[in-house]
Amino acid sequence: MKIAVFSAQPYDRQFLEAANAAEGHELHYFEMALGLESVALAAGFQAVCIFVNDVADANVLEALRGGGTGLVALRCTGFNNVDLAAAKRLGVKVVRVVDYSPYSVAEHAVALLLALNRKIHRAYNRTRDSNFALDGLMGFDFHGKTAGVVGTGKIGRVFARIMLGFGCEVIGYDPYRSADFEALGARYAAPGEIGANADIVSLHCPLTPENHHIVNAETLARMKRGALLVNTSRGGLLDTDAAIQSLKSGHLGGLALDVYEQEGGVFFRDLSSTVVTDDVLQRLISFPNVIVTGHQAFFTREAIGTICETTLRSVSEFARKAPLSNEIRMT
Ligand code: NAD
Repeated sequence: MKIAVFSAQPYDRQFLEAANAAEGHELHYFEMALGLESVALAAGFQAVCIFVNDVADANVLEALRGGGTGLVALRCTGFNNVDLAAAKRLGVKVVRVVDYSPYSVAEHAVALLLALNRKIHRAYNRTRDSNFALDGLMGFDFHGKTAGVVGTGKIGRVFARIMLGFGCEVIGYDPYRSADFEALGARYAAPGEIGANADIVSLHCPLTPENHHIVNAETLARMKRGALLVNTSRGGLLDTDAAIQSLKSGHLGGLALDVYEQEGGVFFRDLSSTVVTDDVLQRLISFPNVIVTGHQAFFTREAIGTICETTLRSVSEFARKAPLSNEIRMT
């Protein structure tokens, strides 16, 4: 089947080509993201393969359908960038990679937290300048502290297990409770308790219209003073302006972001020779107690390998008109 791969990076090509040895599709790579201005490139392709910052809204889906595309294959877990209602109306199938490596994302969240708490990013710069002073680098023991997990699905549970290993008390919030989470030795708590008691809060829920800016000025104010917040889920969960205000007031102790609400057009690109015009992102990066990574939590060999294999297997199912194991259906 002919597949148009958007937002294609060198590593996507490498792993997709390897996975395609078993599937035999015809892959065409486009560096640019899918959107209204680029959708014409997909004309004549039965399937498009997209990533987190490609846009498959109603207009784009209509254009895709008009060009003969019947399948949108997301090579990621989250699907907030696809208008599922429009896809259903147009008869366009949407598949994603439900499960690749929850370890990749959970481990990155923990890496960010450890770096943020022990100021590894600052120590790294200091020692390169032969500055071995410790002033300003003090952190706290994770042991004995409370870690709050928002979203206790696959990634949230791996995160919880790691934090329990540090000797943290782990409390979680999820509208759909999981016995597996409690079996780890963690417990469920109301959002208010997480805010009030957690020294560390990690977001692991999908972005939906209902939880946009779930962390906002009000929830930040209710958080424990000095707490650390990490978001490896989706940028839209956090009101970034409110987080900046909280950091400026000294209430929020530190912020680690792998995702950012305006990341489209910035992340996954080398902008080191240009002037970045996003003042909010620049302000964030300027804080000593903020670490930003460019949506790399998923970026392990194991995860990319599984993502590419699963994606192409889904396209093969579609080509055979077989049931789609990874189809996203509207609930
Ligand atoms: P999952 O479906 O296994 O778990 C998500 C959990 O969040 C579910 O248990 C769900 O009930 C819960 N949830 C939904 N709405 C909630 C809310 N308002 N408050 C609290 N919990 C809520 O998904 P997962 O595999 O654990 O992935 C979680 C998210 O991580 C994805 O949706 C995606 O946005 C993000 N992600 C990021 C990266 C990255 O590279 N940064 C990679 C993969 C996934």
